[in-house]
Amino acid sequence: MIKRNFFKIGLVTLLCISSGQAFAADGCTMEITSSDAMQFSKTSMKVPKGCAQVTIKLSHTGSLPRAAMGHNWVLTKADDMAAVAAEGIGAGIDSQYVKPDDARVIAHTKVVGGGESDSVTFETSKLAAGESYMFFCSFPGHSTIMKGTLTLG
Ligand code: ZN
Repeated sequence: MIKRNFFKIGLVTLLCISSGQAFAADGCTMEITSSDAMQFSKTSMKVPKGCAQVTIKLSHTGSLPRAAMGHNWVLTKADDMAAVAAEGIGAGIDSQYVKPDDARVIAHTKVVGGGESDSVTFETSKLAAGESYMFFCSFPGHSTIMKGTLTLG
């Protein structure tokens, strides 16, 4: 009986250690926050080398509701940003202010309000070296301030 419990404890410890290592080795998840002050916490993001996929986690640290001060994280080529943002306004909040099936959108999260978060995972094979990419919030009026560059590491 003692041996059996010892084995169980050993197994649980082993599982904890291995999952902890897996988490530590995963630099392919990047976090960014947004606020009631209509700002992102970063103006540039670098996708680490060797990530086949990258996950962007967007949090809203404020308290204003989604309809008043909602934020999303949208990624396009730099040249596509203005048009995608403009057309996203027409798509409305139910479409996360992103035109449905817009091929120019590489990835986007949902629109989140204060205290909420959302994440999106995409293949880095969608990004080309030497191309300029921008992330921005497509909530109406936000993309002039809430934007930044994304580059491959
Ligand atoms: Zn916003």
